[in-house]
Amino acid sequence: MTEAPISAALFARAQRVIPGGVNSPVRAFRAVGGTPRFMVSGQGPYLTDADGLSYVDLVCSWGPMILGHSHPAVVEAVREAAGHGLSFGTPTLGEIELAEEIIGKLTSAATANGGPSPLEEVRLVNSGTEATMSAIRLARGATGRTKIIKFAGCYHGHVDALLASAGSGVVTFGLPDTPGVTGAQAGETIVLPYNDLEAVGAAFEADGAEIAAVITEAAAGNMGAVPPLPGFNQGLRDITSKHGALLIMDEVMTGFRVTSAGWYGLDPVEADLFTFGKVMSGGLPAAAFGGKAAIMSYLAPVGPVYQAGTLSGNPVAVAAGLASLRNATPEVYAKLDENARTIGSLASDALSAEGVEHRLQYAGNLFSIFFTDQPVTNFVQAQASRTYRFGPFFHAMLGAGVYLPPSAFEAWFVSAAHDDAAIARIAEALPAAAKAAAAAQPAK
Ligand SMILES: *Cc1c(COP(=O)(O)O)cnc(C)c1O
Repeated sequence: MTEAPISAALFARAQRVIPGGVNSPVRAFRAVGGTPRFMVSGQGPYLTDADGLSYVDLVCSWGPMILGHSHPAVVEAVREAAGHGLSFGTPTLGEIELAEEIIGKLTSAATANGGPSPLEEVRLVNSGTEATMSAIRLARGATGRTKIIKFAGCYHGHVDALLASAGSGVVTFGLPDTPGVTGAQAGETIVLPYNDLEAVGAAFEADGAEIAAVITEAAAGNMGAVPPLPGFNQGLRDITSKHGALLIMDEVMTGFRVTSAGWYGLDPVEADLFTFGKVMSGGLPAAAFGGKAAIMSYLAPVGPVYQAGTLSGNPVAVAAGLASLRNATPEVYAKLDENARTIGSLASDALSAEGVEHRLQYAGNLFSIFFTDQPVTNFVQAQASRTYRFGPFFHAMLGAGVYLPPSAFEAWFVSAAHDDAAIARIAEALPAAAKAAAAAQPAK
């Protein structure tokens, strides 16, 4: 493992005042070992850490940075907004523009398919967690029912009721089913295998009158990239409609990344509620949930379901999100797709050259590598992969200046700023990393 003495010193200092030294668990590198890198700057496809080491970034802040780091238009929008004041606690013009931009993107995709827009109103919040939490409250308030179906390996933020079998972060640490979540909260959550419509049908046959909603990642990205099987999302739509339950499509990861209209642009299933975050934030804290006006009107102040936020729709965050979405041109999406194909193939070829069994899986331009020769369509299969190969692979890449997600259960994220030079560095790093993966042995 390469030395990063300044990051190591910072990590020791951080651990004295921050639990585990980090403000979100996967950042701590526990799944791969070694010292997390403390980043000081990002430019285009690169990050630079406190030791002055440079990395091609394949995390992209876990998704938001589709334009690359420090995109001039986004930085300028933030500077400009900050110059007018940081927060007013009143409505502002930017919130309308961001809501219109988000609704417009899904509406364009719907219109292109000859359908009505599934998205008429959105409420802005500060994180994806808040978006899913609020969507669930709204679904319960609107239906008068209590139970929620979620899928094993799907992550919807650290909402109490949704932390059962929640993918990457939770698996990476092998945490039991979340201490701190009460039996009553967990008891309202039905966890089913992803991509298994029969299980969903059976759950509705058993408990249908009590199920408020099914929440699903539009395409699973938090157990690695596991796309829905053809017809899965539509099947969820059909079953929920039949039983009077709502369908919540969590597009926090896929939204405005896999296409300009998110996963909806690839698989236009008309959910009742959508949740967004990551890309629409431009890298500042902002997220949203929305749906048809008839459902959104259950929300206060129009309706009885309470939901609020001191900093919701913050003008600086809104400016960053708006600038990002407005600069996400068709060329940006073409480049994201191209980069995902190129980088995924390079990684897969390097592993094949060393005879390492693996599957390269895509969900749009999200992708990841599973160390298995079997297709991965659900969480049990994802967990059956030879994850011991990932740590040595990760560290070989890190040492050669490529920053991968520090967990075998995360998707890799590219930006449109990943250029030939960045890709060349990845290509150079891969052969030795593939050797390290091939030589890895399971822990005793
Ligand atoms: C990241 C993510 C969330 C949570 O968003 P935060 O902003 O981290 O709270 C929810 N759902 C999905 C699908 C995500 O990928």
